[in-house]
Amino acid sequence: METKKTFPQIEEDIMKFWEENKIFEKSVENRKESNSYVFYDGPPFATGLPHYGHIVAGTMKDLVPRFWTMKGKRVERRWGWDCHGLPIENIVEKELNLNSRKDIETMGVDKFNEACRSKVLIYADEWKRIVKRLGRWVDMENDYKTMDVDFMESVWWVFKSLWDKNLLYEGHKSMHICPRCETTLSNIEVSQNYKDVKDISVTAKFELVDEPKTYVLAWTTTPWTLPGNVALAVGPDLTYVKVEMGEEKYILVKELVAKFFDGKEYKVLGSFKGSDLVGKKYVPLFDYYKDADLINKENLYVIESADFVSTEDGTGVVHIAPAFGEDDMRLGQEKKLSFIQHVGQDGRFTADVKDFAGKEVKPKEDPAATDVEILKYLSAKGLIFSKEKYAHSYPFCWRCESPLLNYATNSWFVKVAEQKEALLKNAEKINWVPDHLKEGRFGQWLEGARDWSISRSRYWGNPLPVWKCECGNIKVIGSKKELEELSGSKVEDLHKHFVDKLEIPCDKCSKKMKRIPEVLDCWFESGSMPYGQMHYPFENKAKFEANYPAEFIAEGVDQCRAWFYVLHVLGVSLFNKNAYKNVVVNGIVLAEDGQKMSKSKKNYPDPMLVVDKYGADALRFYLTSASVMRAEDLCFSEKGVDEVYKKVVLILMNVLNFYKMYEARVDVKAKSENVLDQWLMTKTNLLIQEVGEKMEAYELTKAARPIADYIDELSTWYVRRSRDRFKEESEISPAGATLRQALEKLSLVLAPFMPYLAEHIWQTLGNKDSVHLQDWPEVDKKAIDKKILEDMSRVREIVELGLAARDEAKVKVRQPLQYIRYEAKELNKEFERIIAEELNVKEVKWTEGIIIKPGRMMKESGDLKVALNLEITEELKWEGLVREITRQVNNLRKEAGFTIEDKADLVYSTESEQLKEFFTKENFVEQLRKATLLASIKVGEGTNEVKVNDEKLKITLTKS
Ligand SMILES: [Zn+2]
Ligand SMILES: [Zn+2]
Repeated sequence: METKKTFPQIEEDIMKFWEENKIFEKSVENRKESNSYVFYDGPPFATGLPHYGHIVAGTMKDLVPRFWTMKGKRVERRWGWDCHGLPIENIVEKELNLNSRKDIETMGVDKFNEACRSKVLIYADEWKRIVKRLGRWVDMENDYKTMDVDFMESVWWVFKSLWDKNLLYEGHKSMHICPRCETTLSNIEVSQNYKDVKDISVTAKFELVDEPKTYVLAWTTTPWTLPGNVALAVGPDLTYVKVEMGEEKYILVKELVAKFFDGKEYKVLGSFKGSDLVGKKYVPLFDYYKDADLINKENLYVIESADFVSTEDGTGVVHIAPAFGEDDMRLGQEKKLSFIQHVGQDGRFTADVKDFAGKEVKPKEDPAATDVEILKYLSAKGLIFSKEKYAHSYPFCWRCESPLLNYATNSWFVKVAEQKEALLKNAEKINWVPDHLKEGRFGQWLEGARDWSISRSRYWGNPLPVWKCECGNIKVIGSKKELEELSGSKVEDLHKHFVDKLEIPCDKCSKKMKRIPEVLDCWFESGSMPYGQMHYPFENKAKFEANYPAEFIAEGVDQCRAWFYVLHVLGVSLFNKNAYKNVVVNGIVLAEDGQKMSKSKKNYPDPMLVVDKYGADALRFYLTSASVMRAEDLCFSEKGVDEVYKKVVLILMNVLNFYKMYEARVDVKAKSENVLDQWLMTKTNLLIQEVGEKMEAYELTKAARPIADYIDELSTWYVRRSRDRFKEESEISPAGATLRQALEKLSLVLAPFMPYLAEHIWQTLGNKDSVHLQDWPEVDKKAIDKKILEDMSRVREIVELGLAARDEAKVKVRQPLQYIRYEAKELNKEFERIIAEELNVKEVKWTEGIIIKPGRMMKESGDLKVALNLEITEELKWEGLVREITRQVNNLRKEAGFTIEDKADLVYSTESEQLKEFFTKENFVEQLRKATLLASIKVGEGTNEVKVNDEKLKITLTKS
C-alpha cells in the first residue's frame, strides 16, 4: 500500500520538479529585458549558518520578486557573498592561533590572505541547501563575491570616482579602534555594539605649581588616559570656588560643591570666573613626559578655557588627553597643546609609561582592571580625591567583543557631513515599510551624518587604490588596466599581497610611488554592490544605467545604520541619486520567551527541523503574517508555525481533496446562479484585489493576512455549506466549477507567499505547467457583488445568534426545530434556506416586531433580533432520532471501511421504550434506511453498543 506523503515531503518533490524543469530560470527568461524589475540582494557572510533573521529577510526577498514576476516583470536575482573583513579574518586568526597583527605579518600576509580566501565560502554549500529548501528562488550558482577581481575593480572605480569628485580625504582624527584587531572602525560599526557596563570613575587632584596644597579637581571615567594628560579645561564664564578642608584647598565649579563636600567639614574661601584660572600651571599626576622632548612643550600642564565644559557632571574641570577623545583633540589643535600617545594601537601602554608598560588599558576579560591599578597607584601618592562606580553605555568590537578605545589616528574618510543636504533630499524619494523609519531611525542617522572612516589597518580586504610618493605625490587608481599601464606589470588579482608589490614611477620626482598599506572597510564594498555585481562601468553599462535605482531592497532593522545607509551614501556621492526606491525592513526574531536566540541556551528550534516537520511554506507564512515584516520584534513560537500548518496548509489540502473526490463528475464550464457560489466568487476577486494592492505597496504582512481569512471562510463556510450540493446531480457542476475556480485563483494568489502549496494545488487541479509561470490573476470586477457579501454576512450573524440560542437551551443542532424568526432587512429565499440548513430548522421567517412568547428564545445583536422556537413536537423528536441514529450507523460504516457503493444489513437490539417505538415508525425508519444505505433493518442481537440521546442501542452491520 502506498503511504500518503506528508506536506513537507510533497514540498521536496515540488522542489525537484522546479529544478528538473528549470522553472525559476524560465520564470525570469519568459519576461522581456525591457521590462526589468531590479532588486538588490545584500550579500551575507558565509562564516556561519543562516539563522531566523536571514530566513525572515530571505522570505521577503523571495515574496516580492515572485509577485513582480507574476505581474510581468523580469526579475533577475543574483546571490552575493560578502567575503572580506574582520569576520573572516577573525576565524582564520583563531584557527592559526594568531594573536596580533605582528603574528600575521610574521607568518606573511600572502599566506594569511590565501588562508582567508580558502575559508570564505566554508558554509556556502549549506546555505545553498537551506535557501533552496525554503523555496527561495535566487541564482546561487552564478553568484557574485566581493573578492572577485571584477567586483573589486568596480569598487576601485567607486573609490576613484569619489576621489575625483573631491569626496575623499585622509585625516588624523579621534576615532574608535579595536585594540585586538588593531584597526579603526567606522561609526557604523561602532554603533552596532554598545553595551551597558560599570566602569570606575575617579576625581583626581592636580596641584597648582604656584599654590602648593591647592588642588584643581578633575573627574574622568577613563583613568587609563591620565598619563596622557596635557592640560585641564575650564569654562571661562563658569563660576569656580576654592574650598578649604583640613590642610588642603580644592578648586571646582560652584554648582557641584555640595555634591563633593556635603556631610564634610569645609569652608568656601572665595569664588572667581573660570577665565581667572586660565594660564595657571599644575603638577602632572605622572612625571613620564615632564622632561620629554615634545612639540608645544611650553603649553604642557596648563589650564585652558574650553566651550564644552559643563556643570552637569564631574567637577567643571575636564582632563584633556588629545590622543583619546574628539573634544580633547580639537582643543589640542586649537590651543597648540602637546600630543601624547602613551598607548599603542594594540591597546597597551607604551614603554614611556614605566610603571605600567605593556599592560592592556582595557583588558577584554576585565575592562576596569587597569583603571583600578591606576587608581591604587595615584591613591598611594595622595592624588585621588574620590572614586565611584559609573554605569554607562560603552562600545565593543562587533567582531571580537573587545572594548573599543577612543583613539586619534590616521584614516581615509568619505565626506559625508558636507553632503547632508543631498543625502536628505534624495532620501525623500525612498518608500519605507514601515514608514516611521524614514524620518526615524534612518532619517535621524542621516541628520547626524559624520564623515565615514573607510580605511582599515588590516589584510584581507579590497586595498585602497592609493599610491604615494615620499615627495607627497598621490595617485588614485580606478581600474586594473590603469594599474597595469602605470606599473608595467600584468595584474591578475587586486588583493593586498599582490598589489603591494607594484610600484609606480612618480611623475613629480624620480622616486617610486608605493601603495599605502590599508584595506577598505567591508561596508564600502557591500555599499558598492550595485556596481560591483555588474562589473560596472567596465561591463553592463547601458543595462545598469537603465535600471538604477533598484526598485526594492529588504533587510533587518539593524541595517538602517549600515547597509541601507552605505548604499545611500555611495549612490548620492556617485550620481546624486537614491540607490533604491522601496525598502522593507524586518524586525528581530527572538526566542519564545522574549530573550535573544542563543545557541548555547538552545532556546529556539533549529529552522531546518521546523521545515522538516511543518514544511517551508508554513514557516514562511507564519513569518509573513507576523509584524516582524514591519520591523517589529517577533518572539518565535513553534506553536505558531504549527497553527499555520493546521489552519492553512492542512485545511487547504482537505478542501483540495474534497474537490478531487467529485472532480470527475464536475463540468468545469458550468455557470452558477447559486448565492453561495456568487459569494465565493465575490470573495475570491476581492482577495485578488486586496492582496495585489498591498503587495504593490510593499505591505507584505497586510497582504498575507486576508489570505488566511479567505482560507478559513472557504473551508468553514463555503465547503461546509456546499457539501450536500455535491450529492445532487443538478448542483454538483455549478458548485464544483466554482470551487475549482476559487482554488485555482487562490493558488495564483498564494504563489508568492507559499510557493510549494500553490504549486501543489495548481498541479493537482490538472495544470501541467508551473503556477510560477503564470500571470497574477486579473480582478473580475463583474463577479464582485457587494450586496451578496452584505446579505451573507447578515446570514452568518443570524446563524450565530441561532446557535447561541440552541447552546443556551442545550438543544443539539442535530435536533430539528420548527422555525426561527428574524427582524432586520428581509433576505431572499436562497439565503433563508442557508440559515434553515445551518440551524436545522424547518422555516426561516422574516418578521416585523419580534415578541417574546413561551417556548421561544430571543437573541439580539445590533439591529438584528432573532427568536428561535424551541418546542420539540412528536414529529420533530422522531426526526431528531433519525439524525442521531444515522450518525451512529454511518460511523460504523466508516469503521468497517464500506464505500458508498456498499449496501449493508442492520441488526439492532435495545431496552429503550423510545427507541423501540422509533423502529415502528415506518416513515422515519425509511428516512434512516436511505441516509445510511441499508438494505434491511431487523431486530435481533446487536453487538456494538452506541448511545442515542443517552439511551442504549446495540447494532450490528454486515455487508449485504
Ligand atoms: Zn576587534
Ligand atoms: Zn615623487
